[in-house]
Amino acid sequence: MTNDKIYVTQPFLPPLEDFLPLVEEIWASGYLTNGGPLHQRLENALAEYLGVEHLALFNNGTIALITALQALDLKGEVITTPFSFVATTNALIWNKNTPVFVDIDPVTANLDPTKIEAAITDKTTAILPVHCYGNPCDMEAIREIADRRGLKVVYDAAHAFGVQNDDGSVLQRGDLSTLSLHATKVFNTFEGGAVICRTAEMKQHINELKNFGIVDETTIKVAGSNGKMSEIHAAMGLAQLHHIDACIARRGEVDAAYRTALADIPGLAPLPKPNQTISNYAYFPISVTKDYPLSRDEIYDALRKENILTRRYFYPLLSTLPMYADLPSADPANLPVATEIANQVLCLPIFPAMADGDVTRIIEALRAPLQRTWHAAAE
Ligand SMILES: *Cc1c(COP(=O)(O)O)cnc(C)c1O
Repeated sequence: MTNDKIYVTQPFLPPLEDFLPLVEEIWASGYLTNGGPLHQRLENALAEYLGVEHLALFNNGTIALITALQALDLKGEVITTPFSFVATTNALIWNKNTPVFVDIDPVTANLDPTKIEAAITDKTTAILPVHCYGNPCDMEAIREIADRRGLKVVYDAAHAFGVQNDDGSVLQRGDLSTLSLHATKVFNTFEGGAVICRTAEMKQHINELKNFGIVDETTIKVAGSNGKMSEIHAAMGLAQLHHIDACIARRGEVDAAYRTALADIPGLAPLPKPNQTISNYAYFPISVTKDYPLSRDEIYDALRKENILTRRYFYPLLSTLPMYADLPSADPANLPVATEIANQVLCLPIFPAMADGDVTRIIEALRAPLQRTWHAAAE
C-alpha cells in the first residue's frame, strides 16, 4: 500500500476540456469581470440548481458574508456560534458588530435555539447561525425568536451548498444566506462566494455594495467593497456544475463506507446528520470519546505520521481567539457543549477523487491503536 499524503479534502477539478471552451469565450467577448456573460450565466444556473430565487455571486465567501451583514445595516450585538470557521465572527468585526457567543446543540453542533433568548439584550440586532458541516439549523425555532424579538437572521451557509430539508433548500431561509465557493468547499470557483436573498430590490442593493457602493456614474451611496466575481472564476463554476451531482454522489459513497467501518470501532462515532433530506457530504466529522485508546489529539498526530491529514474543525473555538476571548460571552462556562465538542471532533478526509483504498487505509489506521491495546492486554 502506498503512503501518499491524503489531505482532508482535495478540490474538485472538472475536465480541462469543459473549462477551455469557456476560456475561449472570455477571450472572444473581451469581458473579464464586472458582471460579464459567464457571471450572469453562472448566477442563473446556480439559482436554478440550488432552488433559490435571488443569488448574487461574490469573489469569496468572507466578502459575501461581510456584505450581507452590511446590506442589513446592523448595529450593536449579533448572536452567533463559537463553533465555526473564523470568517464568521471576523465578518461581524468588519461591520463593527459585537459577537455574542451562544452555546451549541450537542446533536447538530449548531447554535442551540433554547439558549438564544437569554443572550438577547436591548443592543441585539441579529442572529448569525452557521449550518455547521451542512447540518441545517433549527430554522423554525430561530425564525420564531427573531420574529418575536424583531431581529434579523443571516445564515452563514458556507457548508450548505445543495443541502435541503423538508422545506426545500436551506438557503432560502433567514433574511439572507451566504455561501463559500472556495476550493476546499463542495462546489468551487477557485475562490468565490454568494449571497442568497429574498427580493430583487435586496439583490440590487447587494450588487451595489459589492461594486464599491456605486449606484450609477455619479451616485455612490455607501462605502461598498469590491466583491465582484471575475469571468474566469465563473467559467470554473460553469464547468463544474455539470459534475456536481456525481461529486456529491461519490462523497456519499465515502460517507457510507466510513459509517459501516466505524460501527465496530469503539469510541469513534460519526456525528449524526439530522434534519436533512438532501446532504452534500461536505465533511465527515467523528467524535473521539473516552472509549477509544487515544485522545483526539493523539489520534490526530498518529494519523499525521501515516500521512493522513485530518482536521480538528472547529478547534480552537472562536471564543478562545485573542480577538474574542475578552468578551463576556466567551467565558467557557457559558459554552460547555461547544468546549466539549471542540475537544472531541476530528474531520476525516472526504472528497470526490478519494479511492476506496484511501478509505481502507484510514480505517486501518484508526483500528491500529485498538489492536495495540488488545495485544498489551493479552501480554
Ligand atoms: C469557508 C468558510 C467561510 C469563508 O469562505 P471563503 O470563501 O473562504 O472566504 C465562512 N464561513 C464558514 C463557516 C466557512 O467554512
